[in-house]
Amino acid sequence: MNERDSEKIESILQENGYEKADIKEADIVIVNSCAVREKSEKKIFSEIGRIRNLNKKAKFISMGCVAQIFPQKLSKISDVVLGTASIYEFKNFFNKDFKGIFVSKEMTESDYIFGHLKSPTAYIDIIYGCDNFCTYCVVPYTRLREVSRSYNSIIQEIKNAVEIGAKEVILLGQNVNSYNFDGVNFIGLLEMVNKIAGVKRIRFVTSHPKDFSEDLAKTILDLDKVCEHLHLPLQSGSDRILKLMRRKYNFKEFAQKIEYFRKYNPKGSITSDIIVGFPRETKEDFKQTLMALEEIQFDEIYSFKYSNRPFAKAALMPDQISEEEKKERLSIVQDLQSKISEQINKRYLGSIQEVLIESKAKAFNQVQARTRTNKIVNIDNSKLNLNEGNLVFAKITKLNKHSFNGEICTN
Ligand code: SAH
Ligand code: SF4
Repeated sequence: MNERDSEKIESILQENGYEKADIKEADIVIVNSCAVREKSEKKIFSEIGRIRNLNKKAKFISMGCVAQIFPQKLSKISDVVLGTASIYEFKNFFNKDFKGIFVSKEMTESDYIFGHLKSPTAYIDIIYGCDNFCTYCVVPYTRLREVSRSYNSIIQEIKNAVEIGAKEVILLGQNVNSYNFDGVNFIGLLEMVNKIAGVKRIRFVTSHPKDFSEDLAKTILDLDKVCEHLHLPLQSGSDRILKLMRRKYNFKEFAQKIEYFRKYNPKGSITSDIIVGFPRETKEDFKQTLMALEEIQFDEIYSFKYSNRPFAKAALMPDQISEEEKKERLSIVQDLQSKISEQINKRYLGSIQEVLIESKAKAFNQVQARTRTNKIVNIDNSKLNLNEGNLVFAKITKLNKHSFNGEICTN
């Protein structure tokens, strides 16, 4: 979501004739910020100091989640502070001398259609904010209340992105399953997007487990463009901790949702988020998270040490877990998941996958592509002429730590 916000700002700047410049020579410097964990928030303040030392003349703009919750603090080191709900204000930047704090308490212009940069993949906001208030999370404060965008503006924005080369759209929201505009729910929206000419693939993040339904699992199968990948954050395998987190499901209910997905999409992939060291997480609770990983067999997880966040209730909970213990639990979770991921990924060897070419890979003469199941495949392009946006079939030949190597199938 922050990446998309940066892109919105970049596209406004481009429309107004600005170009990217070296940080030391730039007229404007913009820092976008993430507040989801303490580490990212702290980094913003030190980064701003570092950058300001490199360029003392530039107009300095701080934006994003930290700007939304700590505008005063940032205004001391920035010329402009732009909150998450006020990105639209950036358009006025060219009309008047734009200085000060622009932070509002609700989303302004949620239907405004921002531009996209040329890319095979386009991020599209469909629902802003979050009303779930999980006890560890700052997002309801940084992204404010839930607002669904009108489907007309979503569809128009997708058409605009397709016109400049997008082949895949990623529908964005903290809880996409809550989408509801004028009687159209998330399934209805997927049906609309599936009909847009030029869109070849549709992805979405994030689904909240409490709202993921069997109907949605079936829709993923029924709509040809919707990719067979589900990101469904579990957070913990312990019902006691899930309750303290206010996640509104227990492990059994979560496992049921996974069953729905697999029933209709047996070859699909599932990823998740896990937090270790939530306050009061005992060794037994933690063991249940490990057992949950064994039982569900996620393709991949994004795992985090619990971190206290401003405004979030869990920060006030007793029995906080020591940093050392959190570190140890994180490494145990990650080791277990690496083994599970390896076993799952081995099954891809020799298979043929539809892949979308996204960009040049790090290694010389390679391109990076992605399967429908969200796995990265590096393809040797030295004898081929593959370009960004090509949709081709590849045979998986090698398994690396976080990616595969593949060869293009010519027939
Ligand atoms: N809306 C999404 C998640 C958004 S935040 C959802 O509900 O699934 C992305 C991930 O960051 C979360 O899934 C969670 O695993 C992690 N996270 C959020 N707050 C955190 C905190 N205080 N400490 C550690 N991890 C956190
Ligand atoms: Fe945070 Fe929970 Fe909302 Fe996700 S659903 S953004 S974890 S409060």
